[in-house]
Amino acid sequence: FLADKSAKIFVAGHRGLVGSAIVRKLEALGFTNLILRTHADLDLTRQSDVESFFAAERPRFVILAAAKVGGIHANNTYPADFIAVNLQIQTNVIDSSYRHGVKKLLFLGSSCIYPKFAPQPIPEHALLTGTLEPTNEWYAVAKIAGIKMCQAYQIQHSWDAISGMPTNLYGPNDNFHPENSHVLPALMRRFHEAKVRGDKEVVVWGSGSPLREFLHVDDLAGACVFLLEKYSGLEHVNVGSGKEVTIKELAELVKEVVGFEGELVWDRTKPDGTPRKLMDSSKLAGLGWTPKISLKEGLVDTYKWYLEYVKQ
Ligand code: GDP
Repeated sequence: FLADKSAKIFVAGHRGLVGSAIVRKLEALGFTNLILRTHADLDLTRQSDVESFFAAERPRFVILAAAKVGGIHANNTYPADFIAVNLQIQTNVIDSSYRHGVKKLLFLGSSCIYPKFAPQPIPEHALLTGTLEPTNEWYAVAKIAGIKMCQAYQIQHSWDAISGMPTNLYGPNDNFHPENSHVLPALMRRFHEAKVRGDKEVVVWGSGSPLREFLHVDDLAGACVFLLEKYSGLEHVNVGSGKEVTIKELAELVKEVVGFEGELVWDRTKPDGTPRKLMDSSKLAGLGWTPKISLKEGLVDTYKWYLEYVKQ
C-alpha cells in the first residue's frame, strides 16, 4: 500500500470524522491520487450510481468510512435509517469494489458490534456470541453484516477485503449536535456554551458510571494505513487505546479542558447504555501498532478545532 503514492484511493465518507482524518494522514504521507466524492456528488445508497462511479474511476484501494452514525439518542430515534442506510452503503461499495478490480478494501465498523455482556476487554472472537446492546443494535447488525461480507468475499473470491473495528472515536470534524452526537462532542459543546453564557450548571446524561474507551481519530487513521500495509487476515481487527474512563471522569476532564467552572447535574432519566465497552486491542499491538495520543492531549486538540469551527 505504501509503496505507490500515486495509486488511486477512494476514501468513502471523506467529510466525516474518520474519513477526514484518513485524508489528512494520506496527504501527510504523500499520497497524490485520492478520489473523494461528497454526498451530493455520489449517493452511496444508490446501487447504480455506485456501479457507474467504480466503472469510471476504477480505484486501486478503497477505505470505507462512509456510514450513518450517531449517539445513543439518534440510534434510538432513527432505527430504520441506521440499519437501512448502512446496509445499502456498505453492500454497494464492497460489491462494486470487488467487481471493478479494487486491489484491497478496508471496511470500518465500531465496537458496538460486540454483545452487550461480552468479556472485557473484548476480544475479536466475542463477535456473535451474545445479545447486542438494544440502544444500538440496528447500526451494529449492519456493521456485523459488513464484516461478514468482507470475510465472504475473501473466502469465495480470494479478494483482499479487511475490517477494522475502532473504539469510540473523537477529534476534528466530529458531530457536535446537542442531542444526536456521541458523549464527548456533546459534552464539549455543552460545557463550552455554558461557559460562554456564564451558566452555573451543566446537565450530563445517565449515572456517570458507564466505562468507555476513547481513541483520537488521528490515531485511527494511522492504524488504517498500518492495516492496509500489513494485514490481510480473515478476522476483523480491534483498534482501541486500551484506556478506559467513567463518563463522570470524562465529563470532569472535558470540563477542565473547556474551562467551565460550574457544577455537573446528572439526568438519570437518560439511558446509560452498555455498562462497559473496552476493546482488547492486543491483536493489533501484536502486529506492531499502538496509539500515540493521550485523552488529555486529544481533548485539547479537539477543543482547539472546535473553537475555530464555531467561529465560522
Ligand atoms: P454509546 O457509547 O454507544 O453508549 O454512546 P454515547 O456516546 O451516546 O453515550 C455514552 C455514555 O455517555 C452513555 O452512558 C450516555 O448516557 C452518556 N452521556 C452523558 N451525557 C451525554 C450526552 O450529552 N450525550 C450523549 N450522547 N451521551 C451522554
